[in-house]
Order: sequence, then structure tokens, then C-alpha cells
Amino acid sequence: MALDLKSSVGTVPRIGPQRAKLLAEHGLGTIGSLLNYLPFRYEDRVNFTPIAELIPGSLATVKAEVVSANTVRFQRDRGAIFLLKLRDSSGFLSTRFFHGSYLQGRFTPGQQIVVHGKVEMDPYRSSRMEMINPEFEVLTGSNSDPANSTEVGRIVPIYQAIGAISSRMLRRILYWIVQNLPANFPETLPADLLRKHKFPSRREALVAAHFPPPNEKIGDLNLFRSPAHRRLIFEEFFFFQLQVAAKRKYERQQPGIPFQVRDDRIRQAVKRILPFKPTGAQKRVLGEIAADLERPTPMNRLLEGEVGSGKTLVALEAAVIAIENGYQVVLMAPTEILAAQHFLSARRNFAAAGYRAELLVSGMPRSEKLAAIERIRSGEAQLVAGTHALIEDPVGFKKLGLVIVDEQHRFGVLQRKRLMDKGVTPHILVMTATPIPRTLALTLYGDLDISVIDEMPPGRIPAKTRWRSDEELAGVWEFIRREVAKGRQAYIVYPVIEESKAELKAATAEYQRLAKEAFPNLHLGLLHGRLKNTEKDAVMEQFRSGKTHILVSTTVIEVGVDVPNVTAMVIEHADRFGLAQLHQLRGRIGRGKEASTCILVAPKMITGPARERLETMCATSDGFKIAEQDLRQRGPGEIFGTRQHGEMSFHIAHPLRDHQLLELARSEALAISEDPARAEELMKLAVPSDAIWKERHQLAAVG
Ligand code: ADP
Ligand code: MG
Repeated sequence: MALDLKSSVGTVPRIGPQRAKLLAEHGLGTIGSLLNYLPFRYEDRVNFTPIAELIPGSLATVKAEVVSANTVRFQRDRGAIFLLKLRDSSGFLSTRFFHGSYLQGRFTPGQQIVVHGKVEMDPYRSSRMEMINPEFEVLTGSNSDPANSTEVGRIVPIYQAIGAISSRMLRRILYWIVQNLPANFPETLPADLLRKHKFPSRREALVAAHFPPPNEKIGDLNLFRSPAHRRLIFEEFFFFQLQVAAKRKYERQQPGIPFQVRDDRIRQAVKRILPFKPTGAQKRVLGEIAADLERPTPMNRLLEGEVGSGKTLVALEAAVIAIENGYQVVLMAPTEILAAQHFLSARRNFAAAGYRAELLVSGMPRSEKLAAIERIRSGEAQLVAGTHALIEDPVGFKKLGLVIVDEQHRFGVLQRKRLMDKGVTPHILVMTATPIPRTLALTLYGDLDISVIDEMPPGRIPAKTRWRSDEELAGVWEFIRREVAKGRQAYIVYPVIEESKAELKAATAEYQRLAKEAFPNLHLGLLHGRLKNTEKDAVMEQFRSGKTHILVSTTVIEVGVDVPNVTAMVIEHADRFGLAQLHQLRGRIGRGKEASTCILVAPKMITGPARERLETMCATSDGFKIAEQDLRQRGPGEIFGTRQHGEMSFHIAHPLRDHQLLELARSEALAISEDPARAEELMKLAVPSDAIWKERHQLAAVG
């Protein structure tokens, strides 16, 4: 029978209507898509271990004879325990199955059986080993030769169960499919690429990824480095990168606005707004940006720089170039507080040059907002700082030339696209403090060029970080009082605004308490997301000017807030925050010339990932290290804000793990897209058999 990859999984033996429905619900409705459902790990069950050589704690496969098989007793919560005793020529092994009454009657003494599982010390007889709930296969009739088995005597694929369909069942289903693959199985990669990189054919690769040949290295398989895996991973990246290259090419052909940048007048104008000498990195990055702005195609650049590295200054310099060319600039921020701060710093820096800066946020009084919109429309407003309001409201610009998006990881990819659609084709500069490894950035934003500010302004002293428990708070408050006495300021951060069932201390209540009990002689401010805009502005202004000494806040200050005189930050319930968030929060201090301290308040007893986070924070202030750790804990999608549009869903490819293949695929894809007709042809060969592909292509199209 010739198997049709497009036909429903319902035509496969063992898949009845119920399983077919379940698989379809998981996007695995066709045989072709199920074939792409690869094992997530592999077990070496090729070599049988003699019972006498079993080592406690190891995984082992044993071929033995059944001695006895009985349901022995009921244990609370564990139901029937089924005890299966085995022996080989070297010794005896007990295996126990919890909830094992279904096994009653399945074994007879003398039967040959293979079991695979973790070896443990028998708690009742310390010299003996046992296995609990091992996988097993009775060797009878046709499968008495282990080579025909899907369970033992081979490298066994382990699948993520799909609902009630177990790994074992998937193994059998896929074994059948793999055995019945059509001879004319479609190849997707061009023959010259297969030859060049010694990749197996698609058919060979899929067969070997499901049921690896016995000589395959188990270590390679589990790292997804086997030849089969490498080919399949390359393929995923390759088609993704072809798509990205096409998009990039399209964008490069869009007419942009070539700015004058080499003019002396413009150089002078840029210099005029500088409050201090730019760092070497700031200068280099501005050079990269200026070169983009000069071209007749729109800039698409990602500016990466650690918190506090001075991205705003570079943004304002770029803004000056646009303004001097007679164009308007948008500076978009993720929060109203940050938008207001950008507005204030633009106004301050622009004062000498006489440029007009404007603030536009959704919470503004209506009349002010209308007036601002009017100035934007007339072109009188030269730089507009604002939030999402800029995208959501139909603001008409007279001559929009440059869009700067700050703290990009807070923005969805789609929002950026909407903004791009709005103007003509303005230059776009996206700024982020999340240090994205270059390969990952290429994957997520293949159409962006990347600049990195890798140097801090001079005289910065990294903040010290300490972990304190609730019992030590009195000392913490004493420390804050001393800082304030020296003329410094402090943040105290809480996870929630108001008290809730979760028994977390809340900003509002703690503000009252601290003002009365810990700091009766100091001025405290309270900042959180539910305040009205005018209230927020007033609170920030009081704090910025030094009239309030301590700002009690929620995480609204997390992003971008810049008050250099603050030298202390206390974060209560620090164990409740994610790593990236803690790093961002801590980035609010250590911005001036004074040494500063961040105090994380959390129980000392904490264990697990929360403990790792706190220890990481105490050990390093290196954003790259912290991002790496964060990636390990949470995975890339969540961090880079793509989750809401479906994660970066590759089947088996993993941009971090497989970065070398990603680079390889990228260079091959770029080479091939030199010939657009060929690229187009190849794209048709991609396997668009399931939802994941569509989603991914959408993301690529959005960039
Ligand atoms: P971020 O990159 O986190 O957005 P900011 O642009 O807010 O950082 O800059 C952090 C602080 O460093 C600000 O107070 C800013 O005025 C200051 N700063 C920026 N560049 C320099 C420089 N070249 N020399 C001295 N201070 C600088
Ligand atoms: Mg910033």
C-alpha cells in the first residue's frame, strides 16, 4: 500500500476516530504532520546489562526470565502494587508497578522479557536492586528477536505524550508509518546543498530521527546533533531565513528618505544638544545610524545597550539629524512615565537648539491632547514622545522621518509593524536593554541591523547587591536613612499595589506604614500604575527634584526611569520577580557617580529557581550573563515578547542550541536569494503541512 502523506492519520492502524480527533486537535491530523512529530529524547536500549552489574541510579535495560508475577498488596494512594520478579544467569531483580492491577495475568513464569528503567536499591534487601514502573516488552512469537521490537534492543525514541496517547503508543504508530513510507518521498532541499553539507535525504533523516540506526551515538541524538537532526534543523532555519531574506530585500527596495548627515551645520547641531562627552561606543553607534539615515532606503536598526549605557542620548542625536533635515521624529516608550521622562529630557537637551518637543499619552486632558495633535499635524511639533497612543489614535504627522522605539522587548512585533504602516516609510530605530545574543536577534528580527553600545559612561560603579530577610528589615531602613542623610535618594519596590489574598506586602499600605514608622522625618512619594497621569507626573517631578527622599513604588519604575541621585533600592518579595525584571529594576540605580546598593528582601530558606535568581543577582551585574540564565529558566519566547503571537515555534530547531546551523542556513539562504526566481521555487518546496509553519511564516513576514 502506498502511503499518502496528505491523508488523515485515521487511516493508520491503531488510530481510531478518537485518537484521530485528538491528534488533529494538536495540529497532527495528517500522516505527514505526524511524521514531523519527533522524539524529544532517546534511550539506549541496545545493550543489555547483566543483573549483577546494575548500578543504583543508572538507567538500564535488562533481558531476563519471569520468576513470578503477583499483585502483592494495596498501599494507600498507590492502589495495587504489582510485583514482577526476574532473573538472568547473574542474579535476581524485582520490579514493582504501582496501580499495577491491570498487569494481573499478563506474565507467566519462564517467559523471556526485557525491562528498561531506573535502577534503585531494594529498600528491603540492601544487596538487591529493583526497578519501579519500568518499561517492558514480553518477547514472544514474532518479536522474540529483540531487533523487531520498538521498545528494546535498539535506541528507543521517547515522545512527548499527546493527551492519552502515550509515548509507547506513538512509538508504535510512528514505527508503522516509517515502515510504510512511499518510495517517492518528497525532498525539500536542493541537491547541491545536500551534497555540500553531506546531509541525508529528507526521507532518510526522518526515518533515522524516529528510529535511529543502532550505531548512532546516543549523546549526539540527545543533543539533536545526529546527521538526521542536523539536516532537519538546517531545513527549518533555511526556509525561515529564505523568507526573512525575501522580506529584507523587499524592504530594502522601499523608497526611504535620504537625510543629509555630513553637512557641517548638522554636525554642529548634533554637538549643540550634547550635555556631556559621548562615550566611544555612543560615537560609533551614532556613526552606524547616520550611515543608515543617509541611504535612500529606510533604516531598520536594533540598538542594544545595557541599562544605563546611554541609549537615550544616541536617540536624541539621531533625532537632531532628522529634525535638521526638516522631518518629524517619534519617540515611543512602553509606559507613560517613561514617555514623560523622554519628553522632559528632549525638552531640556533641545532648549538651546530651539526644537519643539511634544508629549502625547492617552491619559492627557482632552484639550491638551487636541492641541498637541494639531501641532503634530501642522509640523510645529518636531519630536513627539509618547506611548501606544501614538499607534492607536490616528495621529497625522506632517512629515514623519524617524521612529524611535524605546525598550523594545515591551512592544509586540505587530505593534511595530502597525507603526511602520502609518508613516510613509520612516527610518526605524529600536532600542533595547535586553542583550539578545546575535544569532537569536537574527532569527527574531532577521530584517534588522544591529548596533551595540558595549561601554558604560565613565565613572560608573556597578551597584552592590545584597540579600536580606524580613527579620533584617530594621537594619535595611537604618541604611536607607543614612543614605538620605548623605543627600541621596532611594526606591522601595513592592510587587502589588493593594493588599490581596496572596499576603504580599502592597505598595499603598507599606507607603503609609513606612512613612509613619520607619521614616517619620522624611518625605515619601508613592507611585503606581493606577494613579492618574497628572498625579504620576507630580510624584515623579517631586522625586526628580529631590523634594521627596524615598519613592515607594510598584514595578512601574522598572523601565527606563532615570534619576541619577538615587543610590539605594530595596525590593521586597524579591523572590516573586523574574530575573530580567530584577535586572531592569536594579538598572534604576548606579546611574550617577556615587556607589549604590540594591537590597533584595526574601526569606533565606528559599530554594529552587527563585534561589538561583537571587544568587545570580547577587553575583553579577552583567546583563549578558543574566539574560543567559533567564533564557535557561524561561526560554526565548517569553523574554523577547513574541509569546503573544505564538512563540518562535520551530519544530526541532532551537535558535540558541543550534546557533551554528542557524548561521549556516542564513548564509546559504542569503546566497540563494541572490537569485529571486530560484528562491521563490524553493520556497514552494517547504513543508507547509501544519499550523506551526503558517504561524512562523506570519512572524517572519511581520519581522
Ligand atoms: P539607557 O541606555 O538605560 O536608556 P540612559 O540613556 O537613560 O540609559 O542613560 C543613563 C544615564 O547616563 C543618564 O543619566 C544619562 O544622562 C547618562 N549618560 C549617558 N551618556 C553619558 C555619557 N556619555 N557620559 C556621562 N553620562 C552619560
Ligand atoms: Mg532607556
